[in-house]
Amino acid sequence: MTEPEPKPEPDTKPEPDTKLEPALRRGHAIVVGGSVAGLVTARVLAERFERVTVLERDRYPDSPQPRRGVPQSHHIHFVLAGGRERLEQLFPRLAADMRAAGAVKFDYARDTFIRSQHGRLQQFDSELEIYGCSRPLIDWLLVGYIRDDPRIELRDGAAVEQLIVEDDRVRGVQLADAGGEDGGGERLEGELVVDATGRRAMSTKWLEQLGYEPPALRAVSSNLGYACRQYAREPDETRGWAMASTIPQAPHWSRSAAVVPIEGGRWLAMLASVGEDRPTDDDEAFVPFAASLGHPELHQLLSSATPLTPVTISRTSRTQLRGWQRARLPSGLVAVGDAVAAFNPIYGQGITLATLGALTLGEEIDRQRARRGDLSRLSRAYHRRLHRLVRIPFLTVGGLDASWPEASGVEALGVYGKLMRSRIGRYFVASGNAKMHRISGDPKAMQAVLRIAHFTGSPWALLRPQMMFRLARQLYFRRPPSLEAQSGRAEPGESTVTSTPG
Ligand SMILES: Cc1cc2nc3c(=O)[nH]c(=O)nc-3n(C[C@H](O)[C@H](O)[C@H](O)COP(=O)(O)OP(=O)(O)OC[C@H]3O[C@@H](n4cnc5c(N)ncnc54)[C@H](O)[C@@H]3O)c2cc1C
Repeated sequence: MTEPEPKPEPDTKPEPDTKLEPALRRGHAIVVGGSVAGLVTARVLAERFERVTVLERDRYPDSPQPRRGVPQSHHIHFVLAGGRERLEQLFPRLAADMRAAGAVKFDYARDTFIRSQHGRLQQFDSELEIYGCSRPLIDWLLVGYIRDDPRIELRDGAAVEQLIVEDDRVRGVQLADAGGEDGGGERLEGELVVDATGRRAMSTKWLEQLGYEPPALRAVSSNLGYACRQYAREPDETRGWAMASTIPQAPHWSRSAAVVPIEGGRWLAMLASVGEDRPTDDDEAFVPFAASLGHPELHQLLSSATPLTPVTISRTSRTQLRGWQRARLPSGLVAVGDAVAAFNPIYGQGITLATLGALTLGEEIDRQRARRGDLSRLSRAYHRRLHRLVRIPFLTVGGLDASWPEASGVEALGVYGKLMRSRIGRYFVASGNAKMHRISGDPKAMQAVLRIAHFTGSPWALLRPQMMFRLARQLYFRRPPSLEAQSGRAEPGESTVTSTPG
């Protein structure tokens, strides 16, 4: 199946959103790694630095295709509503270009058919807008915007191999000798270096080689594995949902799945489980695995759809957090995205938190310049702020990971990890889906919970008296909604899914 190319819209292209006059943008910022975190950060820095250079080790593909440095791009990538909103602030054409490329816009609760072991969750209008699309499409659009931005130089095929540090200050980076290709062995000088190299955080290795102690790493894993496969998506006006999924729950409901519509008239299907039960790359085993999930409609869809690709697996699922805020770093070095915090991917938080982190960096640069006139204290101040932002998602997801019997690295969570594996913790986790099922009977209460999960609402909203009343009523006084009588097939017109049939 050929991929439709996003249609350029030259007439509607806005000028880059330049907050500061060029005269107030000072210095040269170097971003190492040109995946989502690096590209988003480059956009934020372009408003604050005279020059921004992004150095990406891979060559970018010339169409939306997976590439070596981002192996997870074969897999489902779901951008939470809060992440999408922030991305659109930075890249105002994103929504229009995704639609033009065939991405499918849908409401997270109204158009998603979710089943847990307690039955089907109620569908309602959540105002949480999601785009079903492939990860390569997101990357491809972002690369295009950065290439079009005259303030940013985007160099691909440029692998960084060391930091240049003098007098406890980062002065730039040393590129690998690419055998005469672009950037071979070159030294590039800059006032700020950003590590956006993903989970491995390459600068931690370079810091160690230079005699610095790298930031401590805390990591816990449920030992989750993904298997993904693309299928042809036939237009069906009567289906009544855009996406279908199931919800896992420790300790017994380890298997889960999701089917998301993506551009090019395709479904992207994902299966997951933990430990020995992880799905394999055996094409023949894909649909039988889906039969075991308690979601007959999802299984039916996969049984009847035509597969377009072989199965691809991923076992990258550790939830990890680096203590950059505590490390003694040379000034002028910061980290963003997965290099700071990376999560079990099943919760779909990586891109959203990478974007929030990049925005935090921009705010802290402004604050430091306004207060001190320079960025000598930026690194510590920014990493402290970022830590406050990512530690709750880290503890929440890490705690859920720790509650699986198959988990490893639980000691990284200290007493909290022990608590999550105790009888109290197990009770708390094991009742999670039942509680969600009950809350879903009140769309207003469920919306407040979902808004927190999507980073569009504050947890404090749950403490408002009216909301506490609603939650208590659902959890303790009302019978859980019984939707089992409904079939997966909704009446025509129930959903207002907007899709571009491929
Ligand atoms: C299976 C899976 C599914 C996921 N699903 C979701 C999801 O549904 N929703 C979501 O929000 N997130 C998801 N994530 C997380 C998401 O992929 C990441 O959070 C996101 O890619 C941001 O990562 P990053 O830019 O920090 O690093 P990466 O995407 O890992 O990119 C690092 C970049 O650095 C480059 N690089 C590395 N070393 C060098 C060097 N020395 N010099 C120059 N360049 C270098 C690499 O080539 C690469 O381009 C998923 C992750 C996995 C593994």
